[in-house]
Amino acid sequence: MSDNIPTPKELEKEIGEFLAQKFGNNVKIVSAGIFPEEALTEPNEQERKVTKKKKKINFNLKPAELISYLDRYIIKQDNAKAILATKICTHFNRIRLLESSNGNNNEMVGGIKNNVLMVGPTGAGKTYMVKLIAKKIGVPFVKGDATKFSETGYVGGDVEDLVRDLVREANDNLELAQYGIIYIDEIDKIASSGHLIGADISRTGVQRALLKPMEDTDIDLKVPHDPISVMQDLEHYRKTGKRNKRVINTKNILFIMSGAFADIAPIIKKRVAKQEIGFGANITSLKENDQFLQFLKAEDLVSFGFESEFVGRLPVKAVFDKLKEEDLYEILKNPNNPIILGKKLDFSAYGIDIKFDDEALRLIAKDAYSENTGARGLISAIEKVLLLFEKRLPSTQVKKLPVTRFIIENQEQALKELEGLIPPSNNLYEIFEELLNKEKEFVKDYIAKNINNLTEKFSINLTPNRINIITEFYLKNIMDIESVIRKIKPNYEEAKKIELYFFNDNNINIVFEDDALDFIVEERLNSSVSIDSIYKKILSDFELGLKLVREKTGKTRFFIDKEALLSPEEYLENLIKSEMKHLVEDLEED
Ligand code: ADP
Repeated sequence: MSDNIPTPKELEKEIGEFLAQKFGNNVKIVSAGIFPEEALTEPNEQERKVTKKKKKINFNLKPAELISYLDRYIIKQDNAKAILATKICTHFNRIRLLESSNGNNNEMVGGIKNNVLMVGPTGAGKTYMVKLIAKKIGVPFVKGDATKFSETGYVGGDVEDLVRDLVREANDNLELAQYGIIYIDEIDKIASSGHLIGADISRTGVQRALLKPMEDTDIDLKVPHDPISVMQDLEHYRKTGKRNKRVINTKNILFIMSGAFADIAPIIKKRVAKQEIGFGANITSLKENDQFLQFLKAEDLVSFGFESEFVGRLPVKAVFDKLKEEDLYEILKNPNNPIILGKKLDFSAYGIDIKFDDEALRLIAKDAYSENTGARGLISAIEKVLLLFEKRLPSTQVKKLPVTRFIIENQEQALKELEGLIPPSNNLYEIFEELLNKEKEFVKDYIAKNINNLTEKFSINLTPNRINIITEFYLKNIMDIESVIRKIKPNYEEAKKIELYFFNDNNINIVFEDDALDFIVEERLNSSVSIDSIYKKILSDFELGLKLVREKTGKTRFFIDKEALLSPEEYLENLIKSEMKHLVEDLEED
C-alpha cells in the first residue's frame, strides 16, 4: 500500500483522535478490520443468518456475481457458465418483479419461461453447475432421468412425481418448492427418431406430457393411487375436519433438460453446410464433430426428433465442452473441489492425513481421462489409487499418507514402508512434510489471487497474518476455503465486541490492533476458550491500570496490540511512563 493511503487501522486511529479532540473521550468508534456484515455482504450471507427453517431465496442475485461464484468451483465451461448464470438470474429476478407488482403484471400472456437445454458429454459439470446455482439461489433442486419416464407408471405421472419431490426437498415448504429447479437428464433419449429406447409413440408421448408442467399447470400433491398419500389425506381430514386439496403450480419452476446428444453434431453440420452455400463461409471445414455443437439451433433439435412445441419451451441452450486431461488435473488442484476434499475426509475419519503430490494428480487425471467419462472418471481413478490404503492403514499406526507416483505404482511396497516393515526406499514422511508445505503455499497463493472477491464477499480485511490463520485452519479442517472463512469470521466479530463490553463496563475505549484481534481469534480456534473468559482475562489485566492512567491523564482511548495482550504489565508500565513524560513535558511547556 502506498505511503499516503492510510490503512483502515490508521484511519480508525486518526478518526478516533479527531473525535476525541472534538467531543472529548466519550465517543466510541467501532470499525477497522471487520466491517459490519450487513453493509457489504451479498444478500445470501445475510440470509444465511435467517433461521434455518425460514429459508429465503436470493432473488436479486446479479449474473456477474453468480458467474464469479461458479468460477470458484467449475473449471472451463465459460460459455455455459455465462449463459446459465445470466438466464437463471433473469428467471428469478423476473419472478421477483412480477410478484412485487402485486399481480399487476402477473397475467402476462404467453410469457416464455427461461427453461434450459444443456448439451454436452457425461462428466462435463452439467449437474454440478445446476446444483451450485440452486444452492446459491437457495431453491430446492431435484434430478430425474428421462429414460425412466416411459418405463414407469403413466406418462406424465413421472414429471408430477418430480414436482412432488421438489416439495419434499423443500421440507414441505410449498412456497419455496414453487421456485425450485427440476433437472431432467438423458433428454436426448426421448427424441423420436433414431435407434433409441422404446417406441417412437411413447417417446413423443413423454415429450407431450412434459409440455404443460414446463409451462404452467397445477399439480396435486396427493398421489392418486398411492395408499400412503391417501392415508395422509384422511389423517389430515380427521384432524382438521377439512378436505384440503394441496396443489402446486409449476409456473415458476425452472426446468433444465440435459443430454449428451452424441448424434446431433452431423445434423448441425449438414444444416450449416446447406446454409453456407453462397456465403463463402468456411464453418464446415471445422474438423471435429463436437465443434458444431456451438451452432446448435432449435431446428436441429427438431431434425433430431423433438416436437417443435417441446423445443419451443426450451429457449435457453448451453453447450458444455468435453473436458481435457489438463482440465481434469485443474479440477483436482482446485482447493474447493469436493472430489479431493471428500477423499481427505474419508481418510481423516480414521485420523489419517493425506496429501497429494502434483505428479500423482497428473497420473490420476490421465487415468480418469482414458475412461472417457469426463470428471466422473476422477472418482474411480482416485479409488483405484487409494482403496488399498483406505482398507489397510486404519488398522495401523500410520497417520500420514503422501500420495506420490511411487505410492501409486508400488502400493504394496509403499504400505510396508509406511508401516516400517521394510527399510524405506523413499523417505515418505519427509515427502509428506514437503507436500504439506507446498499445499500451504498453494492455499495462500489461492487466497491472495482471490483476495478481492473474498474480501468483498466476507467483509474481512485479509491481512497476510489472517491468510495464514485461514490456511492453517484449512489444512486442519477439511472444508473449502469459503467455508473456512465463514467459520472464522464470527470469531473476529466476537473479538471486536470485547472493545464494546470494555467500554460499557469502564467507559474506557480500547481498540485492538489487527494483530491483537488475530491473536484472540487464534486462541479461540486453537483452544476453544470462550469469549467470556477472554474478556474476563482482559478485564483483570487492564482494567485497573487503564483506570489509573485515565485518572492521571484524562485519556480514555488505548490501542492494544498483541504484545500488550501477551505482557499487559509491561504495556501498562510503558504506557504510564510515556503518559507521565507527556504530562511533565506539557507542564514544562506551560
Ligand atoms: P454431468 O455433466 O454428467 O452432469 P457432473 O456435473 O455430474 O457431470 O460431474 C460429476 C462431478 O465431476 C461433479 O460433481 C464435480 O465434482 C466434477 N466436475 C465435473 N465437471 C466439472 C468442472 N467443469 N469443473 C469442476 N468439477 C467438475
